[in-house]
Amino acid sequence: MKFCAEGHAVVVGAGPAGLFAARVLADVFERVTVVERDGTGDEQRRGVPQSGHAHDFLIRGHRIAEELFPGLGEELVAGGAHAGDIGRDMRWVIAGRPLVKGDSGLSTVVSSRTFRERHLRARVEVLPRVTVLGGQDVEGLSFSEDGSVVDGVLLAGDKGGKLAADLVVDASGRGSRTPVWLEEHGHGRVEEEKLKVDVGYATRIVRAPADVFAGDVCVNVLASPDSPRGGACQRVEGDRVVVTLYGVLGDHPPVDPEGFNAFAKSLAAPDIHEVLEVSEPLSAARRYRFPAALRRRYESMDSFPRGLLVLGDAVCSLNPRYGQGMAFAAMQASALSDHLRAEEQLPEPDVYFRRLAEQAVDPVWGMTLLSDLSFPGVQGERTPEMLEALELVGRTQFAATFDGQLALSCLRVFGLLDPPTVLLDPAIQERVHKTLSRQPV
Ligand SMILES: Cc1cc2nc3c(=O)[nH]c(=O)nc-3n(C[C@H](O)[C@H](O)[C@H](O)COP(=O)(O)OP(=O)(O)OC[C@H]3O[C@@H](n4cnc5c(N)ncnc54)[C@H](O)[C@@H]3O)c2cc1C
Repeated sequence: MKFCAEGHAVVVGAGPAGLFAARVLADVFERVTVVERDGTGDEQRRGVPQSGHAHDFLIRGHRIAEELFPGLGEELVAGGAHAGDIGRDMRWVIAGRPLVKGDSGLSTVVSSRTFRERHLRARVEVLPRVTVLGGQDVEGLSFSEDGSVVDGVLLAGDKGGKLAADLVVDASGRGSRTPVWLEEHGHGRVEEEKLKVDVGYATRIVRAPADVFAGDVCVNVLASPDSPRGGACQRVEGDRVVVTLYGVLGDHPPVDPEGFNAFAKSLAAPDIHEVLEVSEPLSAARRYRFPAALRRRYESMDSFPRGLLVLGDAVCSLNPRYGQGMAFAAMQASALSDHLRAEEQLPEPDVYFRRLAEQAVDPVWGMTLLSDLSFPGVQGERTPEMLEALELVGRTQFAATFDGQLALSCLRVFGLLDPPTVLLDPAIQERVHKTLSRQPV
């Protein structure tokens, strides 16, 4: 570590991005305060209405979380979550066909999002340099008179006033007000890139006999252009199963029991409907609508105040059906950590945002954009190179339903361990060609 600030860092938001950020800031700052609008112990937090829906934690996120909080996975399992090898214990169905299963040597933990976040937060709360202020809203940033420096946050309510900081990290999620506050203080409006996907989710909690999973910890039926409805069934703590269904471009699952079951039955594979058939419902279905993936291009701004950084969904909110958001938050916290370690001084925002884009946002945003554009109804430019890549990735995924090694390559890409370009490697494409040429036409 090159510099050790003696100062105070404030993080806005105690979602995954805020919690990971607080952990890495505590390596460098003498004091870190996390300010979170929601109170502690809320099962369904108002600030994260999506938290009741199935939340995968991709293997890349699991690895980073274990580096930052050693033993977290074991702790979750001791509390009732389920560990599983991503190739052996998780069922992945693409275009109606299961990927070939096998040991991958890559294990992660399946749990509800609320449970995972509660444990993460407890780990952060015991860090000696960190204080978490729950039930406290940030209503603004404190700017120097000329607007060039952020020197704290403005807290709302009776306990309000300025909380001074040497560095403010905005991790307040997709609804972040930073774009508005920057504009009000003369920095212009951050450019936003949107991809309209109109994904609708519906989720119910059920109790299901363990044998219906045949030893698996979760089942993922992925939407594809040929069968654009998908779903996930996850065995989580408390002996419960989270069943989430989704549809794209306005084809949303209903929340009445008959409609919900009928939507499950309409998926390209029967696995999730089979679970519902033998389940006891524990909750009504809840819905969530996700209109568009959103990226805020802070790295392109001409003017940005010192003393402020942004990360997590506040920078880039991905189509949720790829299950990447929390792992992506962990990747961004890693970029923040690298940045803090590399700099002699307090972080320069433009250097930070370029690093964040290179290390985390560009590769993941590019990957999801390409997948979203494989759906003909999604509006966006498709270059000949993209169309070729989509064709090859689609063939590779199909071949992975016959060949275990290709399945593992695909799972490493889904898990954000490898970029999708590895699937275009000539050796992999040779294997795809051989695999498919052995199948009956
Ligand atoms: C339906 C759905 C399903 C998803 N499924 C998955 C999945 O399977 N796997 C996965 O990894 N991701 C999934 N995601 C994405 C994931 O939920 C987000 O990417 C993730 O929550 C982003 O974390 P974050 O910390 O950046 O933001 P958030 O989780 O939104 O946290 C922001 C926090 O800031 C607080 N806050 C906001 N404003 C203020 C303020 N002014 N003052 C104080 N506090 C404030 C909020 O209360 C909240 O706690 C899904 C998303 C949706 C919508």
